[in-house]
Amino acid sequence: MKHTLDIVPLKSWIDTGDKPLIIAGPCSAETEEQVVSTAHLLANTGKVNVLRAGIWKPRTRPGEFEGIGSIGLEWLKRAKKETGLLTSTEVATAKHVEEALAAGIDILWVGARSTANPFTVQEIADALQGVDVPVFVKNPVNPDLSLWIGALERINRAGIKKLGAIHRGFSSFEKTAFRNEPMWDLAVQLKSACPELPIINDPSHICGNRELIPYIAQKAMDMDQQGLIVESHIDPSVAWTDAKQQVTPAALADLLDHLSVRHPESNNPIFDDKLAELRQQIDKLDDAILKQIGDRMKIAEKIGEYKRDNNVTILQVSRWDEIVEKRVQLAKALSLSADFATKYLELLHNESIRKQNEVMNAKSVAEA
Ligand code: PEP
Ligand code: MN
Repeated sequence: MKHTLDIVPLKSWIDTGDKPLIIAGPCSAETEEQVVSTAHLLANTGKVNVLRAGIWKPRTRPGEFEGIGSIGLEWLKRAKKETGLLTSTEVATAKHVEEALAAGIDILWVGARSTANPFTVQEIADALQGVDVPVFVKNPVNPDLSLWIGALERINRAGIKKLGAIHRGFSSFEKTAFRNEPMWDLAVQLKSACPELPIINDPSHICGNRELIPYIAQKAMDMDQQGLIVESHIDPSVAWTDAKQQVTPAALADLLDHLSVRHPESNNPIFDDKLAELRQQIDKLDDAILKQIGDRMKIAEKIGEYKRDNNVTILQVSRWDEIVEKRVQLAKALSLSADFATKYLELLHNESIRKQNEVMNAKSVAEA
């Protein structure tokens, strides 16, 4: 599903040369001193383009710090005046948009909880009608690509052409090392649906802890994302929100120093030839794998017919357990991860069951 968003290239609204766009700053504006001194430290690194700070904080549970409110806009204004950094904040209502624009905030973003709600996004879009301000849209909390694209479309239809997406990861039932599962394939799908749309990464909200941020930031660069939004606080240990995932400006500078920024294309014909050859090999293997899966399904259909004629259930748990155990061991011996092998087998099994179901119920459908 291709989408044509009517947007202008990122380089035309923020020129970062051949470097990624870096937005950094505290999760929340807490005090004037905290905002301004963090901004100075960030500006002094020479590596940050835009200062971020949450003024209105959407919290999952009430009773936590819900943002300092409008007064914080004045602190951002002062930080901009003293450091020259552009400023950005999250907006979640029409009133936030009006106040942020009145305060001269340079870039707005729509938060993950808002993106999940089309009513909220439409309210924000209506408030943006006729305004020329850059807007980033975070992915929704739930892994739903259409909601993300829908929010981008609503903002775009309000006339916002300086538009980008922020990949901040998705809530998942299963608890993993990440606060929000990156689910990179959703960001990749957004990129193929809207190739011209800049996507930046929010490793802070993906990780939920400082330690993993460099790994995710590098991965974002390797996935050809155009920048990072990172939470940075002058003293993370006393931060009022998201303390565990914030880094000091010095740690941020160190992280950015160690980032390898790669390019989607090379200018080297020998490299290109070699790459084309390797890709051909991959294509050939992919074709062969699919063909074999097709053959496997044909056998599954035969089994289905056999089970149907003998009145046996589709699922035999013991057989399934045996398949998984043996194949996961083989996968490990082939240096494939157990997680990958299990997921792959599950997909295969589901498709087999679907096929067998078709075969086993075809008769009753015909009879009906
Ligand atoms: C934030 O950027 O501080 C924030 C609340 O993020 P998200 O909307 O991604 O949860
Ligand atoms: Mn935060």
